[in-house]
Amino acid sequence: MTALEKMARLAMESRFDSVGPASGRTIDHAKVDALGRGTKYDLCSSTATRRRSVGGREASTGGICHSFTGSGRCVSLFKTLYTNACPHDCGYCPNASVSARKKTFSYTHEELARITLDLYRENRIEGLFLSSGLGRDEEETMEEMIEAVRLLRFAHHFSGYVHLKILPGSSKEHVRQSMELADRVSVNLEGPSAARVAELCPSKEYENDILARQRYIRDLSREVSLPAGQTTQMVVGAAGETDREIFDRILFEYDVLNLKRVYFSAFTPLAGTAFSDRVKAPAWREHRLYQIDWLRRVYKLEEGEIAAAFDDDGFLRNSDPKVAIARSSFEEPVDPNGATFAELIRVPGIGPKTAKRILLRRKNGRIERMRDLAKLGVAARRAGPFLQVGGKFAATLDRWGA
Ligand code: SF4
Repeated sequence: MTALEKMARLAMESRFDSVGPASGRTIDHAKVDALGRGTKYDLCSSTATRRRSVGGREASTGGICHSFTGSGRCVSLFKTLYTNACPHDCGYCPNASVSARKKTFSYTHEELARITLDLYRENRIEGLFLSSGLGRDEEETMEEMIEAVRLLRFAHHFSGYVHLKILPGSSKEHVRQSMELADRVSVNLEGPSAARVAELCPSKEYENDILARQRYIRDLSREVSLPAGQTTQMVVGAAGETDREIFDRILFEYDVLNLKRVYFSAFTPLAGTAFSDRVKAPAWREHRLYQIDWLRRVYKLEEGEIAAAFDDDGFLRNSDPKVAIARSSFEEPVDPNGATFAELIRVPGIGPKTAKRILLRRKNGRIERMRDLAKLGVAARRAGPFLQVGGKFAATLDRWGA
């Protein structure tokens, strides 16, 4: 049984006798199922990890997901749309107005609060990931979503984690209210530029509907505490964009808009959508984008260094980008006895924790054997060609470039 089927069954069985006036009512199984399935392509932390780990097969991600709180704790979330009705025309989305007509469902704010609270009280979840189509319009739907979380927080003293999607075009006041109630908020970027988003979703205005809302969040973060920050997500490979275009957008999102994370979703054509006959993007492309995102966000590599990972057409190759970057940046093998922290973390097979261990270990004397490095956590096969240990090195610069 998938997580979603389990959630739908629990919701159907749940009689909400713990939450007041609607005691005894049940929620339609089809609604829970449809609105849970509708979030399949909304990414939170575990979705990204899991999609990578299944090597391109689609993971069932509706119904439940995992995310990290501001303090780094992993939590299980009830993941759902508020409504699957949407007037936008995103070509890849089964909820779009241009997709083959499907039955539409919406929660009421009471229903959503009740199902979340029941699942929470039964220890099935630790929080809520709430996304949505626009419904009749973004203001009305955003108001309903906020009201559901307000009910949870104030009427039922719900202290669980909440990730709330900000709908494109939402007002600044709704953004503020969302931030006051949620741990994390996100606006879906979908594409790296106005031109690419026009291709993906002609009815959306990139600057006004999306970027302006991200700026609201950044600016309001100075007054309103948002423990798990602002995130976003992009569809990869549906609009002909290059990886370099995506990387340039990542830089802007982190450096200018102060985002916490950018998530990627390799495009998969779905039956009934406007893009049903487009070519599926390879899952490895999503994986390589996560790798350069990591090199920038965690390793703090410079834009110019990361540029070495792209081919002449602006695409990443299906190989470790850190190796391509190391080949272009090192002029000679690195001696772990004299290298700085910044040099060590640029060696493939050495991460920040391992680099710190090497620096500590050096206080006890020189490192003379690759075996000693392996004990500190160095991935010897990957790092070997770039290291000089005990006066020996395994590769020449010519071989690096091979
Ligand atoms: S805005 Fe686009 S992606 Fe979001 S639900 Fe509507 S059609 Fe789908």
